[in-house]
Amino acid sequence: MNILRKVTAVPTPGIIRSFSVSPTNNATYSCKLLVVGGGTGGCTMAAKFARRLPKDSVIVLEPSKDHYYQPLWTLVGAGVVRVDATRRAEVSVLPKGAKWIRDSADKLLPDKNKVTTKEGHEINYEYLIIAVGLENDYKKVPGLYEALHDKSSSVSSIYDSQFCEKTFQNMKQHKQGNVIFTYPDTMIKCPGAPQKIAYLADSYFNKTNVRSKTNMIYNTCLPVIFGVPKYAEALMKVVKRKNINVNYKTILKEVRHDKKEAVFFSKDDENKDITMDYSMLHVAPPMHTPGFLRNSKVLVDNCGFLEVDMYTLQNKEYPNIYGIGDCTNTPNSKTAAAIAQQCYVLEQNLLSTMQKDEPKMKYNGYGACPLLTSYNTCILAEFTYGGVPRETMPFNQANESRIAFYMKKDLFPFIYWHIMLKGYYHGPEKIRKLLNPFRD
Ligand SMILES: Cc1cc2nc3c(=O)[nH]c(=O)nc-3n(C[C@H](O)[C@H](O)[C@H](O)COP(=O)(O)OP(=O)(O)OC[C@H]3O[C@@H](n4cnc5c(N)ncnc54)[C@H](O)[C@@H]3O)c2cc1C
Repeated sequence: MNILRKVTAVPTPGIIRSFSVSPTNNATYSCKLLVVGGGTGGCTMAAKFARRLPKDSVIVLEPSKDHYYQPLWTLVGAGVVRVDATRRAEVSVLPKGAKWIRDSADKLLPDKNKVTTKEGHEINYEYLIIAVGLENDYKKVPGLYEALHDKSSSVSSIYDSQFCEKTFQNMKQHKQGNVIFTYPDTMIKCPGAPQKIAYLADSYFNKTNVRSKTNMIYNTCLPVIFGVPKYAEALMKVVKRKNINVNYKTILKEVRHDKKEAVFFSKDDENKDITMDYSMLHVAPPMHTPGFLRNSKVLVDNCGFLEVDMYTLQNKEYPNIYGIGDCTNTPNSKTAAAIAQQCYVLEQNLLSTMQKDEPKMKYNGYGACPLLTSYNTCILAEFTYGGVPRETMPFNQANESRIAFYMKKDLFPFIYWHIMLKGYYHGPEKIRKLLNPFRD
């Protein structure tokens, strides 16, 4: 494509070495495309454009030396997989043709087409993709951070590589009493995970013969078990069968781990504390976008999410800025599955923008959530904007299935590491057409 051949990156001082770099002080870099964040969305987009643009045209700004496949943390929490199996070196997943600056974005200066970093460097760009995901906001719940870090406590979270193995340790130690699972009052990634781990724990306690002495409690801020009615109906049957007590609109407020007490409040009466003792507490923590993004007031909505058009993924104020993944304000379920579809839309639309054309491709809000219901069954929820089911398999995916379990455990990780991060996976739409030629 002509436009792509015309422009190359111009790395100014302290030229970046061919891969991970520790730049010299106060260096200035320039590139055609800057990708901020090297997680699921950032790696995928960097792979796509590193292939299309001349060498060294793409810079990835990412502070972490490790890249995780987060969707497997649920099975880490259940003792099926070790956390090491979900981790790879960042350098091994970034495309060879891109440059990695191992540093964090500090300020976005969209009027100057510039990003400054924590270490004091400047990166000039022509086009910018923001893919910085969501961070756990432990401090929002007093006592939570301390409880998670106390190795002897029975408080854990599958939402953190540091604490997901602790969930299984706590499950093994549990003998009787309340086991509480929480869902916070913020946007979170994979909104199905807080209940998946509850279903897996129930199965585990049955195996270890402690289930009859266990009171399973799921406290969720939501008014329903799941946002898509078709799957909510199926999940309510699971909840009933497993005898899990669900408290809706109930939010974790404080953890007193010295007393093994969790304090909640109900959205219906915010002034009244509800204190519950626990033998084990699993927390899905509140989340927010990284601070540097929340502070970029011209780019974000009231909740601190990057404002993009929900179909084209382009920022409305700055057409050379796009967003992908958990940090954007698109009203879809925040999942890696969503990114698989978004990445193709973003690729096509950014290419149009580079050619001074309007973005034309539209993201349909697709997301998927493999809702594990035991150690060998799963409800594979797939849906688009508005909670409209869009299933790939030629059977009713609201039914618990073994195939879906093994897809989640084995097939999806394979696709992620070997196809998606290399920029070649665009979601299951083609497979859907092949398996269901007569569906719309
Ligand atoms: C327990 C759990 C279960 C899940 N289950 C599923 C599932 O079954 N199916 C599914 O599809 N999805 C699932 N997900 C969700 C999925 O993992 C995320 O939606 C996806 O990884 C988000 O990708 P992202 O690129 O938006 O963010 P991330 O992959 O989180 O990447 C963000 C990157 O930005 C970097 N960053 C942060 N701040 C800065 C900064 N200042 N400067 C530069 N870089 C920065 C971070 O270091 C990180 O590498 C699950 C997630 C969890 C935690």
